[in-house]
Amino acid sequence: MTIGNELISGKTQDTNSSFIARQLHAQGWQTSVIMSVPDDEGAIQEGLNYIMSLSDAVVVTGGLGPTADDITTSAIARAFGLGIYSDQAALKHIRDRFEKFHLKWTANNEKQAQVPEGAETIKNSVGMAWGYSLKKDGKIIAVVPGVPSEVKRMVPDGIIPILRKEFRDAAGHVESRTIKLSGITEANVDQVLADVDFGSLGVNIGFYPNFPEIQIVLTAIAATEKDAKERIIVADERVSERLQQYIFAYDQDTLESIVAGLLTDKNLTLAVAESCTGGLVTDRLTDVPGSSAFLERGVIAYSNDCKADLLGVPEDVLKEFGAVSEKTAVSMAEGVRKLGKCNLGISTTGIAGPTGGTADKPVGTVFVALADETKTFCRHHTFRWDRWRNKTMMSQAALMMLKRYLTGELQHER
Ligand code: ATP
Ligand code: MG
Repeated sequence: MTIGNELISGKTQDTNSSFIARQLHAQGWQTSVIMSVPDDEGAIQEGLNYIMSLSDAVVVTGGLGPTADDITTSAIARAFGLGIYSDQAALKHIRDRFEKFHLKWTANNEKQAQVPEGAETIKNSVGMAWGYSLKKDGKIIAVVPGVPSEVKRMVPDGIIPILRKEFRDAAGHVESRTIKLSGITEANVDQVLADVDFGSLGVNIGFYPNFPEIQIVLTAIAATEKDAKERIIVADERVSERLQQYIFAYDQDTLESIVAGLLTDKNLTLAVAESCTGGLVTDRLTDVPGSSAFLERGVIAYSNDCKADLLGVPEDVLKEFGAVSEKTAVSMAEGVRKLGKCNLGISTTGIAGPTGGTADKPVGTVFVALADETKTFCRHHTFRWDRWRNKTMMSQAALMMLKRYLTGELQHER
């Protein structure tokens, strides 16, 4: 249950629920209902009653702030006939944070340390208010602040362990694995896996499109950890043997972290030349800590002049084949590699849209080239999205090409 007037008015989209539901799903638990209610005592209490009539546990976010409209704790305490007290450890945490960030203390901040009697507190390492959990008639009510970054820490670190302690016996041991894919649609993934009977392997499978990637989540519940792990391994093999070329990462890893890890391990350096992606490829690579180990430079060569002056793309190539062409992409990748004196050069040139397309080069066309010391590869894609999604997909295509080169797959393509 998410609480907040801003959710009900439509000002803020409720992202906490989907995050929490995914976390619960990964543990093998079914979410029975998702509800948003305003900062209103009656609505909070009715919502709680309804959810608890359907569920063994409820996760609540929002309304733990210092202001008068944050009433979650008093509403919950009154609903269960509990008093409220000020938790000294929680209060100290808030006071320390005020000091650390040089914030001016006001009396209403004490409110954020209040919890219902009998509650067990849940620490908050990334924000002010701690959360808490209550047990009522064998059911668990766990409450955390609404700030999404705090939810993302407190649910896995605080709430999941509490729920596991309470419900593990019923659920058995749970293992899950997220497989991340790119370059294939959700419908195709579904089709390719249609003949695999995951149920008979004792594994639950879910598909989650998470633009620009698709995630497959495998979950197994078994009596022992060993059994659960083995089921996941078998199911993962079924997926990998069919979809290997699209898989780029597992669990917490990202495409950029995988590429960065491969470049670093192989001791290779990289220079990037970007036209249509406007620096996005370089930006994504620099999201990875330690990227200076492999990233030498990123050049945004947006104009033809820059492509010619800086990267040495021949004028007649630009004239004859155009800026968006295989020859230009190849020349950009080779040019930037030479310029940066690197092992590898990668380039993008394309049409992000919504205008600028032609019959043979429609909006969404991109050429991605990758040059090493001896050879230059080029791939051509056509995406069909709006400008922002096209740019994202184009950067994805470039990073996928790098990943496939670094694992040796690209060299073995026809
Ligand atoms: P704090 O204790 O840190 O003050 P809070 O529990 O009072 O937080 P809110 O004031 O309700 O939380 O929300 C804090 C911020 O988090 C706001 O910017 C709000 O829009 C956002 N937020 C709250 N709930 C959600 C939600 N379910 N999904 C996405 N964002 C949310
Ligand atoms: Mg609020």
